[in-house]
Amino acid sequence: MKAAEAVAGVARQHAIEVDSDARFPEATIRAARELGLLGLVSSEEVGGKGAGLDAAAHVVERLARECASSAMVMTMHYSGAFVIEEHGDETARRAVASGQHLSTLAFSESGSRSHFWAPTSSAKVEGDEVILDADKSWITSARHADAYVWSSRPANAEGMSTLWLVPRNTEGVEKSGGFNGIGLRGNDSAPVTAWGARIPMNQRLGEDGRGFDVMMGTVLPRFSIMIAAGSIGMAEAAVQATAEHAGGVKYAHLEQMTLAELPTIRAYVAKMKIRTDEARMLWEDAIRAVESGREDAMLRVLEVKASAAEAASAVLDTAMRVCGGQAFRKDVGVERRFRDARASMVMAPTTDQLYDFIGKAVCGLPLF
Ligand SMILES: Cc1cc2nc3c(=O)[nH]c(=O)nc-3n(C[C@H](O)[C@H](O)[C@H](O)COP(=O)(O)OP(=O)(O)OC[C@H]3O[C@@H](n4cnc5c(N)ncnc54)[C@H](O)[C@@H]3O)c2cc1C
Repeated sequence: MKAAEAVAGVARQHAIEVDSDARFPEATIRAARELGLLGLVSSEEVGGKGAGLDAAAHVVERLARECASSAMVMTMHYSGAFVIEEHGDETARRAVASGQHLSTLAFSESGSRSHFWAPTSSAKVEGDEVILDADKSWITSARHADAYVWSSRPANAEGMSTLWLVPRNTEGVEKSGGFNGIGLRGNDSAPVTAWGARIPMNQRLGEDGRGFDVMMGTVLPRFSIMIAAGSIGMAEAAVQATAEHAGGVKYAHLEQMTLAELPTIRAYVAKMKIRTDEARMLWEDAIRAVESGREDAMLRVLEVKASAAEAASAVLDTAMRVCGGQAFRKDVGVERRFRDARASMVMAPTTDQLYDFIGKAVCGLPLF
């Protein structure tokens, strides 16, 4: 896609400073907005591009090869945008479609930690408003998103959760601390609290008490496939950077032999490539399974994030070994990705939770 290629060019230009200064990738997201990528998954009916998961996942994969923080911001935007498109009012849907609205998910809480499907925060109805109290532990784009797709306990109904659209500047919604993580340093993830924050009742996304269904039906398949896209993009970039490095550095005392002429090194590069391609093939199959509503779609959704996250982490670990002492320096381009690639393993559902869910599915046990 032409627009994705152009935005990837901007991401490449800023990737190093986004990482070193832990700076939000403003220029990349601006380019994505201007080139119509923020409205990619919105329907044409409200002015969007009407594209689906396949297109969004490929945008994320392409960006991740250049700047994983940008890919993460776009993953969270599309995850929120899919929910708004399905459950938001027309004003919100049009805002996303026009590129004026950057979205994100505010699911994780300090109470239930990575068990995002079980919020402990509350929503109380007062007239035609709802009052939110929450201690959200991580929100990507916390200071840049226009509104958060927010989970709480149900207001009045039975069930595990309810979703809301909460504008970032709502009174009582506070963002704390800057992000100084080891990887994805530009993703602007921050804890956000809400104490007595009031939003109109009509900003509910889906039915009261049915948030879990939206999380599992709308968010999980798309989020998992897009996070996997980021992992695969990073792994692909690592294979290329490693091959370039191995082909370029020489041993003067061995008649200018390159690193790539060592069979051990070539075998490591081969294993990196195999692992990346295996993850990519599962990812492509997961996209097909979800888009066609195949019977095994949920199993693929559970598999794809774990497979890609573990593959990217292993590939980057090998890249660090192959590129030797020089890999510790930023110019080789693998140490940043080595740090970035670790995040997807611990992003919920984490790899270990996914292993448990997949094991349950294979053994015929209920997931929850
Ligand atoms: C860079 C970054 C950006 C993020 N952005 C967002 C965002 O935009 N929105 C959002 O809602 N969240 C976001 N998150 C939060 C993320 O999804 C997780 O909720 C968070 O990383 C969990 O961390 P924790 O320390 O609370 O995990 P814990 O729950 O304390 O887990 C610690 C360890 O225990 C393991 N574990 C926990 N439960 C089980 C189980 N049942 N079976 C097996 N192992 C288990 C986990 O796998 C993990 O290894 C982000 C996280 C990161 C790192």
